[in-house]
Amino acid sequence: LFLTLEGGDGSGKSTQMGALTAWLEQQGRTVVQSREPGGTDLGLELREIVLHRRGFIAPRAEALLYAADRAHHIATVVRPALERGDVVIQDRYLDSSVAYQGAGRVLKAREVRDLSLWATEGLLPDLTVLLDLDPAVGRERLTESRTRYDRLEAEEADFHERVRAAYLALAEAEPERFLVLNATRPVEELQQSIRDRVSHLLA
Ligand code: C5P
Repeated sequence: LFLTLEGGDGSGKSTQMGALTAWLEQQGRTVVQSREPGGTDLGLELREIVLHRRGFIAPRAEALLYAADRAHHIATVVRPALERGDVVIQDRYLDSSVAYQGAGRVLKAREVRDLSLWATEGLLPDLTVLLDLDPAVGRERLTESRTRYDRLEAEEADFHERVRAAYLALAEAEPERFLVLNATRPVEELQQSIRDRVSHLLA
């Protein structure tokens, strides 16, 4: 079972991932938690470039760097885990690329999606949880202690609005794959909604 979490910064993806993992493990499932960018050694090097390198990266180059991270991660970590029968829960996947590299950086959504599907040999999640949040609220939620992403500091508010709209459009296009939740709801309630949906998939 391949589950992904999507949403803007500060939407609570990591919190939900931790709680979902604990719940699945209590039921005797083996869970592999992962994230993009940076789910492998190579991915960590690519993450350093895409998030911390100062200066301009051409949009297509950026999309390819994310795709390279994803290709390596899926081939070496996620597919082997799925073949063993593990549950893989991943913080961000191809919808992040469509939302950020596509809508955010004005590449065509379809092209970014196709690039990602080529990179992963067509792997789509069984369920994608979208934690939908007003980007202004997400930004407020992030604590001072959290790592700052040099390249993202400069993004204008409008960028995050476009990302949010792109996520919602993706969810609307594939309602059977997506569970869209209002991320301002209490953490426990959100977790319960996710567990309900995952229970159906495991049944
Ligand atoms: O979720 P995490 O904090 O690891 O994401 C780091 C940043 O990378 C996010 O804030 C997001 O803006 C950016 N990102 C991106 N394109 C992706 C994935 C993440 O721009 N495909």
